[in-house]
Amino acid sequence: MASTICGWCGDRTHMAMVTEPERLPGYMSYTYTATFQCSNEACHRLSIATVSRQTGYASPKKDMARETDLSWQPTHIPRREFPDVPEQIASAAVEAHACLAIRACRGAVALARAVVEATAKDKGITKGPLVAKIVEMHKQNLIRDITRELAHEIREGGNEIAHGDLGDEPMPPEDAEAIIALMDEILEEVYQGPARMLALKRSRLEREQRNAEKKAALQNGS
Ligand SMILES: [Zn+2]
Repeated sequence: MASTICGWCGDRTHMAMVTEPERLPGYMSYTYTATFQCSNEACHRLSIATVSRQTGYASPKKDMARETDLSWQPTHIPRREFPDVPEQIASAAVEAHACLAIRACRGAVALARAVVEATAKDKGITKGPLVAKIVEMHKQNLIRDITRELAHEIREGGNEIAHGDLGDEPMPPEDAEAIIALMDEILEEVYQGPARMLALKRSRLEREQRNAEKKAALQNGS
């Protein structure tokens, strides 16, 4: 039994091996693949697991089932939701997360930059490079101090990609994760947080209105 997040149903489940591991030809190392079935009763769909090792398995079926770093197809791609963010910006943010999930780090960062640019533009901030826009968003109290500082810390990686300068080394996933987290935080502060606040305020005003009406009705009745 191997445990993973099923790429079909999104649950963390046990995967039961349903075919014997097969050793794939054409690799220098030993690469095995096998079919597994999701144990979630509402799913039961099949996934393919693959693993590469320096040495061969003595007993492939038992040994592969014990592996902890199998790579799975399909891969689970978490769907983030941004209900209070304008549709176009939200859909690009969802795609940035999808890129990150498949380790397409440069794609994730390029989209995250576009999302932050579009957010600034949506708030009427159109001048200067991205960093200047973030500073302006902070000036207008759209984002917090700490978010602006964070943006300064991590802007380098994103800049390389924006200027078509891909660098000597691939972007480390942690850098891409930090940039996506910053994008999430900016969307939270600019759209999601204020929308929640407005909803609370609206429901308080409605409650007060209802209470006032009740009171008036009682007074009229008495
Ligand atoms: Zn499943």
